Amino acid sequence: MCYAIPGKIIEIKDNYAVVDYFGEKKNVLLGVKNVSLGDYIYAQGGIVVSKISKDNATRTLRIWKKQFFELKKIDKKISQPATNGNLLGLMQKVNLGKNLASPELQRLLEMRENKEVQLLLETANNLRQKELGNACCVHGIIEFSNHCRNNCLYCGIRRGSKINRYRMSVGEIIETAKYAVKKLGFKALVLQSGEDDWYDEKKLVKIVKEISELGVLIFLSIGERSKKIYKKLYLAGAQAALLRFETSNKKIFAKVRPGTNLEKRVELIRYLKKSGFIVATGFIVGLPEEKNEDIIKNILLTKDLGADMYSFGPLIPSPLTPLAGQKLLDKNFLLKIIAVTRLADKNAKILVTTALQTLGGDALKMGLIAGANSLMINLTPYKYKKNYQLYPDRDRNKDDVKASIKNAINLLYSLGRAPTDLGI
Ligand code: SF4
Repeated sequence: MCYAIPGKIIEIKDNYAVVDYFGEKKNVLLGVKNVSLGDYIYAQGGIVVSKISKDNATRTLRIWKKQFFELKKIDKKISQPATNGNLLGLMQKVNLGKNLASPELQRLLEMRENKEVQLLLETANNLRQKELGNACCVHGIIEFSNHCRNNCLYCGIRRGSKINRYRMSVGEIIETAKYAVKKLGFKALVLQSGEDDWYDEKKLVKIVKEISELGVLIFLSIGERSKKIYKKLYLAGAQAALLRFETSNKKIFAKVRPGTNLEKRVELIRYLKKSGFIVATGFIVGLPEEKNEDIIKNILLTKDLGADMYSFGPLIPSPLTPLAGQKLLDKNFLLKIIAVTRLADKNAKILVTTALQTLGGDALKMGLIAGANSLMINLTPYKYKKNYQLYPDRDRNKDDVKASIKNAINLLYSLGRAPTDLGI
C-alpha cells in the first residue's frame, strides 16, 4: 500500500511514461531508472517507484482484474447525488471548470439544513468519483520521534509537555520500513517526527537512502528543516513532503506557534514544491478565534501552494496543553469542510486524518463519502505509538497492524474503493 496496481508502460515521453491500467491511461513521472517500453511498474503519487517482473505483474493483475471493475461499479452507484436547484447552480459552475469564489465556498460551509448538507456531501463525493475514479491512497506512517524543539499551544508533544519521550534508532526505523514494504506490501510511507535535530543530516540521509532502495515513495514529515537538508534528502530518494502551514491567519499563527513564523513556513512549502517534492499540506480546524472565512482562506492557500494532497484535521484539545479547554468540533462540520474542499479543488487528494477519525467511529467512512480519497495506517511499533500523543486517545489501538489493514481494506471495498494510486 498504497496497494498499487501494477501498470504497463505503453509510451515514454521525456521524463513521463504513459501507463496502462486495465485500459485506463495515466501519465506518471519516471522516478526510477532502467524502465522501458513494455515494462510493468508500480506508481505512487504520480511517480514510478519500482519496476516489477512480468510474471509478478501478471499474477497480481489476474487477482485484481475482476475486482477492479466491480469496485468501480459500487463506487459509482454510491456517489450519485440527488438533485437540488440551488446547489446545482454552484455545481454547474464547478463542472464548467470555473472556480467558486470565497463567499460561495463559505455559503456552502455554512449550510445548516440537513437536506442541503446531505446534498453537499453527495455532490462532493460525486465530483470525486467523476474526476478521480475510485482510487484511494493508503499510506503507512511511522512516527519515529516525539521530541520537538517547538512549543505549539495545541500540540501534546510540545516541548513543555511532560510525556515519555522516545526516539527510534536509525536501524529501528529502517527495519520498521522494511517490514512495512516487504511483509505488508506498502508502497508509500510517511516518516514523521517532531522537529528533532537529533536526527541530523547524516542520520536522515542514511534512513532515506536505505528505505528508498526498497522501491517505496517516502513522505518526509519532519517539520521545518533547512532547505539544504531537504535538498539532500530529495537527492537521497525522498520524493514527497508533508508540511502543514497550520493556519493562514497571521495573528492566530503567532499566538499558537510561538517562536515560528508563518511567512517562513509558507516559503519553505513553496520551495519544496518548486524543488520537485510531492507536497502534502493543510491546516488545523478549530484554533481559538478562528472564523469560517479563515477556514476558506486555509483551503484556498492549500490550493495556491499546489498541494498534491490536502491534510487537515480538527484540533483535539489535549489536557497537556494550554488549549486544553478549547471546544471539540462537531464531526459534521469537518465533513462539510472536506466536501467544500472537494468543490474548491476537484482534482485534490484529500486525506482523512487520524484526528478526524478520533471524532467518531464512522468518521473515516463518512470522510471518504464526503469527497476524501486518502488515508493513513499507523505502523509505529506500539511501545512508541502510545507516546506519540498529539492529543488524548490518539490511535492507542493495540490491534496489530495487519488487523488495521484488514479493517481499512474491508471498509474501502464496501465503498467500492480500490486501495491504489493510479498516478497523475
Ligand atoms: S505541532 Fe509540530 S512543531 Fe509544533 S510542537 Fe507539535 S510536533 Fe512540534
